[in-house]
Amino acid sequence: MLICPDMPPRNPDLKREQSHHPRDFADFVYVYPVVSRRSGGVSIGVNLNLDKFCNFDCPYCQVDRTVPKPKQAISVPAIRAELEKLLATFDADGVCRLERFAAVPDADKRLKDIAVSGDGEPTMVPEFAEVCTMLASLQATRPELDFQLVLITNSTLLDRKNVLEGISHLLSRNGEVWAKLDAGTEEWYQKVNISRVSLDRIEANLIRLGQEHPYKIQSLFCSLDGVTPPQAERDAYLDRLRRIKAAGGEIREVQLHTLARKPAQSTCTPVTGGFLQDLRERIETGVGLPARVYGVET
Ligand code: SF4
Repeated sequence: MLICPDMPPRNPDLKREQSHHPRDFADFVYVYPVVSRRSGGVSIGVNLNLDKFCNFDCPYCQVDRTVPKPKQAISVPAIRAELEKLLATFDADGVCRLERFAAVPDADKRLKDIAVSGDGEPTMVPEFAEVCTMLASLQATRPELDFQLVLITNSTLLDRKNVLEGISHLLSRNGEVWAKLDAGTEEWYQKVNISRVSLDRIEANLIRLGQEHPYKIQSLFCSLDGVTPPQAERDAYLDRLRRIKAAGGEIREVQLHTLARKPAQSTCTPVTGGFLQDLRERIETGVGLPARVYGVET
């Protein structure tokens, strides 16, 4: 799952931490801390896809699937134990005191969120709802650490009962969903995401989720084999947003970004900042939704 990259910071130590997001930390299996400009502080990632399994095959994905990993059962108690150990490294002001972030200014390393994500689609794992319940209960034990719970999802399984249950737990306290929508036409979708789940089903999922819970959309735009998403594709993407909104799906914000790190396929290249800014303007004025561009200088 690709998290929105961030604008490059001026401080070189901060820049290094914000542009390098390794998923290995100490002897932990599931949990890792990153300094995130998008979050405005430290985001703790929970990787639920140790086997790297995903029902998308995005050419821009940064997960290296050329080295396969065996299927692994998720241990919810082990995730909680790792989180508690990591949360213990935050002081009373919520500032992370880990040695690896020593050079990062205090203001940039306060705990902001715990993000359920992974080297694949986190809602695919059977333990998803149980993990969400555990996170909500963990959050309740640490009210002094004012952090959010975030789910980063490719939106394919938002029609599953256990997934919706998990999301309800996550949002029962301070939580948020970032749902992926990268395309307007099925044709472009099958190039940029490649999935057996149709784009129409994703739209229906986003409508249903938004009728119950407001959420943010994350959209990555890139060029494929030198072809930038054409005008008809962009129009169809805006139409999808319009339909979701008209059907009562509440979208808090649309986050637009492009490639920031090396993708799986070299045929996949970033779009320009101008492309994203133009789209942002069309979303705001033509659809009436707040939109932001991440990760590019314009
Ligand atoms: S949804 Fe796409 S970017 Fe995210 S993990 Fe799956 S293949 Fe990678």
